[in-house]
Amino acid sequence: MSSQYNYHYEPASSMASRRIIEEDSYQTTPQATDTDTIPLYGQVTSEDLSSTFDPEIIDMQLKEEMLRRKVALQESKGAIVEVTCTSEVSEAVQFARKNHIKFVTKAGGHSTTGSSASHGGLVISLTKMRHVVTDPASKTVCVQGGAIWDDVNESTAPYGLAVVGSTASHTGVAGPTLGGGFGWLTGRYGLIADNLLSVRMVLADGTIVEASDESHQDLFWAVRGAGQAFGIVTELVFRAHDLAAPVYGGTLIFTVDRLPGILEFAKRFDEQQDEDSGLFFGLAAPSAADRTAILVLPFYNGSQEKADEFFAPLLSLSPSMNKTSMMSYKELNRVANVDPVPEGRKCFSGTKVYMPLDKHLVNDLWEHFDAIMEKYPRSRHSVLMFELIPYGKTIEVPIDATACADRGRYYNVAILLCWYDPGHDAAMHTYLRALLSKIKKSDCYAGQKENVQAYANFAGERP
Ligand SMILES: Cc1cc2nc3c(=O)[nH]c(=O)nc-3n(C[C@H](O)[C@H](O)[C@H](O)COP(=O)(O)OP(=O)(O)OC[C@H]3O[C@@H](n4cnc5c(N)ncnc54)[C@H](O)[C@@H]3O)c2cc1C
Repeated sequence: MSSQYNYHYEPASSMASRRIIEEDSYQTTPQATDTDTIPLYGQVTSEDLSSTFDPEIIDMQLKEEMLRRKVALQESKGAIVEVTCTSEVSEAVQFARKNHIKFVTKAGGHSTTGSSASHGGLVISLTKMRHVVTDPASKTVCVQGGAIWDDVNESTAPYGLAVVGSTASHTGVAGPTLGGGFGWLTGRYGLIADNLLSVRMVLADGTIVEASDESHQDLFWAVRGAGQAFGIVTELVFRAHDLAAPVYGGTLIFTVDRLPGILEFAKRFDEQQDEDSGLFFGLAAPSAADRTAILVLPFYNGSQEKADEFFAPLLSLSPSMNKTSMMSYKELNRVANVDPVPEGRKCFSGTKVYMPLDKHLVNDLWEHFDAIMEKYPRSRHSVLMFELIPYGKTIEVPIDATACADRGRYYNVAILLCWYDPGHDAAMHTYLRALLSKIKKSDCYAGQKENVQAYANFAGERP
């Protein structure tokens, strides 16, 4: 870390707080890759870990048979080291290398590819590293590598500041940032990575470095977009922005007959490119509704009057439920959170679309999605969302300024399917691919002409 940002969290004695636990099961996406194609460098055993880590603090039940890669991460047991500071991360990396043990890093646990889970290897979990320090004088915020956006909002809110973070506050900070990252404030302030000032990280040989515009510039270029591949980030320093007043947001639900009006509003939204706005809309099956409904999450960083004026054409479509209001940014950032379904199974993927959307495509997606919900009533946490964030600030940054090439006049689509019965795994993955494929065959699909086919952090499944 350059001396400019002088925040470090290194507890004097950290060994006592380090624990190794059995791998937990909450992941957004099961991995479906064939085990046989994955080279394994070694499997973790209790003895291996005891030789480096204090045996008294080992309470894991390591399953020796471990690697059943089939479909569900829940079936794959490995070991987790819960590190508490940068030097422990370095120690864990060096241990894994020395013993030829495959390892991964975990922060918020929202990976859409399962890349923060290991099948028999070591998970270096940063979930105990969630400190955040806000410096109101310099308007900078230093965040430990395992923090989630809720932690950041808690720290910045008392100073009337906010950092550009994910739209969902329960995702990790590091994962989204290292892949580029977007959120409700992206329209005004750019991608999450564009607001990153420096990182402290542990490289593959255990070396600890600080990367910024002043030091290790090439590494700093790389972590902003391709960061998950270059090391373990233990601290991130962000630029913060003034955001003292409440913002407008919440949820609206419409019946499907309002879809043409909503698509018309989305077209208008795209044409306006109002930097203070945001609009997520798509398909969801709330339990109160008989059929798949249209879920809309509006956002406006401005007064109630301005928000009312901006969203007037949408609100005039008479939503069947309107739970929007002025609220703190901290609250707003929780609106898009997806409740974890611990025993549930999930798959996630996304792609890119241009506006205006073809109404035949969206009708077709509705019919397909609705049929899935009809057939599998316990899949009702599933959503298909078009995520409209104004792109002006994102495309202002030259494509080669960072490793994030995901800058264009297009928008993300995210598809999350949730279910419970392992017997439905194959069907659900097939449905997800079918929905993606419909979008990719349409004229709205942006990936054909652009640098990217999907946001790297949404690339959970391919058609
Ligand atoms: C419900 C949901 C909502 C989402 N909303 C948004 C959104 O609004 N905006 C957006 O940009 N993205 C969003 N995403 C995508 C999100 O950015 C990625 O899933 C992201 O990788 C999650 O990061 P994490 O730390 O929570 O997950 P993890 O599973 O812990 O990590 C994800 C990846 O990042 C790596 N990683 C994590 N921490 C570190 C670290 N400290 N150093 C190095 N590598 C690390 C992991 O090894 C893994 O490869 C959403 C995803 C979900 C499931």
